[in-house]
Amino acid sequence: MELLSTSARDLDRAAEAIRAGLLVAIPTETVYGLGADAWNRVALARVFEAKRRPSFDPLIVHVAEPAGASEVADLSARYAATLAERFWPGPLTMVLPKRERVPDLATSGLPTVAVRCPANAVAREIIRRSGVPVAAPSANPFGYLSPTRAEHVVAQLGDRVDFIVDGGRCPVGVESTVLDLSTDEPLVLRPGGLPVELIAEVIPGVRVYDRATTSPSAPGQLPSHYAPSRPLYLVPHGGVAGIEPRGRAAALCFGSDAAKSAERGGRWSRIIDLSPSMDPVEAAATLFDALHELDAAGFDELWAERLPDEGLGRAVNDRLYKASVK
Ligand code: AMP
Ligand code: MG
Repeated sequence: MELLSTSARDLDRAAEAIRAGLLVAIPTETVYGLGADAWNRVALARVFEAKRRPSFDPLIVHVAEPAGASEVADLSARYAATLAERFWPGPLTMVLPKRERVPDLATSGLPTVAVRCPANAVAREIIRRSGVPVAAPSANPFGYLSPTRAEHVVAQLGDRVDFIVDGGRCPVGVESTVLDLSTDEPLVLRPGGLPVELIAEVIPGVRVYDRATTSPSAPGQLPSHYAPSRPLYLVPHGGVAGIEPRGRAAALCFGSDAAKSAERGGRWSRIIDLSPSMDPVEAAATLFDALHELDAAGFDELWAERLPDEGLGRAVNDRLYKASVK
């Protein structure tokens, strides 16, 4: 594995590597992606191997320009063009009928493909220079925390990836919002970096996948996603202060009031406040960093409080739920 910078020369090397069928971890505004040429079946197979990812979990195909999406997907579905116009480049992934040329490995054999134009300038430049759409799942082993810094990728994938482009910290910090437009009724499959409320401005009353009421067969809804290696318990907002943890424990709080009352209890070895001012955007940006830190520190127990279920709070709650002990 070789670390690359964001110099023009290194971006060219990253793009050449992708064209040559190698794996390149690239920064995006959401999390680091493990990029490969979406047309190249061998490269796609290497992505699954590097991630130890079950092949039934399809990949998101990234394009440099919104217009490039029509190379991989059919954007004639209702709302698709409007959403692309309004939210691309950005943290929205649309699931649409795939073009025939897209290999089954990228879609797990589904007739649909997930496509996105990321907002990160480095990602777009690498994709543009490579001249191909880039399939990129999050650059972590399957079931582990998503990487929000190049160091996370180095630690988690190391030599299983050929190059890692260090573009600094990912500003959004949670994965993209996945919206399925391939059926008559649009459905948010995964809350993420684009708030559902903004999608609802285009698709009034858009449905959000709900474990309790929707079929569990939607891809990517495996309950063990994003697991830290320590047990993580989820409590309602403000609930951490009332917990009596066992052993050396850490708490993830939301807001300085919650963090202060947890501190007063004196039971925590470490308290991380995801956002002292209770801004869910800041909490999303800090979440995986915080989980990586707590995971590495080897606490006996992790406790986290939920955020109010609005805006990016939904995405944070979804990741906390998936990371938690059920
Ligand atoms: P990741 O690449 O790790 O951010 O995860 C990609 C996620 O996108 C998958 O886990 C699925 O939830 C979703 N996805 C990708 N392709 C499809 C598809 N064709 N149909 C439904 N969901 C998809
Ligand atoms: Mg992932």
